[in-house]
Amino acid sequence: MRLSGIGVGRAVATGPVRRMPDPLPEPPEHETVADQDAEVARTRSALQQVAAELTERGARAGGDAKNVLDAQALMAEDPTLVDDVIARIENGRTGQRAVHEAFFEFQVMLVGLGGYMAERATDLGDVAQRVIARLTGVPAPGVPESDTPFVLVARDLAPADTALLDLDKVLALLTRDGGPTSHTAILARARSIPAIVGVGDADSLRDGQQVIVNAGTGAIDVDPTDQEVAEAKALIEERRAAANAPITPGALGDGTKVQLLANIGGAKDAAKAAELGAEGVGLFRTEFLFLDSKSAPTVQQQKEQYVAALKAFPGKKVVVRALDAGADKPLAFLNDSEEENPALGLRGLRVLREHEDILREQLTALAEAGAETEADLWVMAPMVSEPEESEYFVALARELGIKVPGVMVEVPSAALLAEQILESADFVSIGTNDLTQYTLAADRLLGTVAGFQDPWHPAVLRLVAEVGRAGRAAGKSVGICGEAAADPGLAVVLVGLGATSLSMTPAALADVRAELLTVTKEQAEARAKAALGASSAAGARAAAAALAETAAA
Ligand code: PEP
Ligand code: MG
Repeated sequence: MRLSGIGVGRAVATGPVRRMPDPLPEPPEHETVADQDAEVARTRSALQQVAAELTERGARAGGDAKNVLDAQALMAEDPTLVDDVIARIENGRTGQRAVHEAFFEFQVMLVGLGGYMAERATDLGDVAQRVIARLTGVPAPGVPESDTPFVLVARDLAPADTALLDLDKVLALLTRDGGPTSHTAILARARSIPAIVGVGDADSLRDGQQVIVNAGTGAIDVDPTDQEVAEAKALIEERRAAANAPITPGALGDGTKVQLLANIGGAKDAAKAAELGAEGVGLFRTEFLFLDSKSAPTVQQQKEQYVAALKAFPGKKVVVRALDAGADKPLAFLNDSEEENPALGLRGLRVLREHEDILREQLTALAEAGAETEADLWVMAPMVSEPEESEYFVALARELGIKVPGVMVEVPSAALLAEQILESADFVSIGTNDLTQYTLAADRLLGTVAGFQDPWHPAVLRLVAEVGRAGRAAGKSVGICGEAAADPGLAVVLVGLGATSLSMTPAALADVRAELLTVTKEQAEARAKAALGASSAAGARAAAAALAETAAA
């Protein structure tokens, strides 16, 4: 039997399935409690035990996982939440129902705040499930413990689960939900875990069943024959060797250069990016530095951060994005108005223009940092929808000493008018995450419409083709810096559509580098043409894959 979904990366794995337990049922609303004091004591103790267990797991795991788990432990002991739980028990609820209601209400509030806060809501839900499991005497949900390696199958994973996966145990990850740009996919890619998301029939897999997972093709072979397992093992070795191949500059098999760059959020990511062979930075998300700032950072504060990041890339290109505030990344000092649809609101360059003093300070800090370091500094504006906005940004950036100003293409109108935009901008970089969100009219943060958030969609590819054509005509660089660039198969198609550089999470560089080497420019263009002719994302994937298979045969 063969199941299929959307692969992340190109690795192959084989092993037995272990299922993640399904979420617990909602505790009933109208159960009565005989002794309220005893119920309060029992619930307090469960909250404390869960906090202690999370802290202890964090200490064992270390690193980023420790931060995630320590934050969860604090949630379990948060005084406001604990008081709310107790008040509900005193109003006649059982401990488990009180925990469910209090945590859920808090989750809804976090989701309402959006962005970073909304992501914490999943972690909070996970804490509630652990406490309820303890109170009702059932096993805690979460990644199963095992002494031997396994292929983890889940409906979806909380960010904390993905961050904590033990890479010696989890051979691969299969989820029923989630799209190619879901958090699970992004985290799996960042941690180099072979994964296939959106596996519609994942619920049919049983504990202990053997599977072969091929993230490159998105196929899962269930109960394979010995012969198939032997072939998979040979492929695993081949892919491993390719991923560990010497780091060479990005290029197609015929030598056509494709710069491979890294997406970073600050100097802390720069060293790792350089180590994994990034030829520079294609997207430095500067707003990540100031997510917690209440007031605008000073020129000096910014300059220190920029110098630290630029120093990691002497002589190399570093594309810095001006603050992209709003929607999924609100900044307190820029986004102060209530908006019904923040993704369609005053965000990116639109809000910077309203606060031109902040934009001027950022460009000044960048120009000074550029002058003090050896990096080849490029600076771009986010969320540009019109040529006039490009003219505005480019003129201001030049006035303040930026030598290479450009803009991001994330809105369909900007893609359609790329030719006019390139009359002012020195370069463009396509943000496929937002471009997909706006082309398919599907909120990138909303799980219910995740199925639309697929950059393989031919409508998105046609817009990329339009930008590629404009870039070629103007002789200017067309980068890709959304998640799409990290998908090896799609990376080939994007180059076929005219992308001259690809920027991605550093962990994806090796896979993309290896895949590009398997095609010539002509083959990449043929795959692009095939994908453009499809009428759905799945059709585009299949059309490109069919050509890849023919080439491999
Ligand atoms: C994008 O939209 O594709 C992009 C690269 O920017 P961000 O994901 O930060 O919005
Ligand atoms: Mg964007």
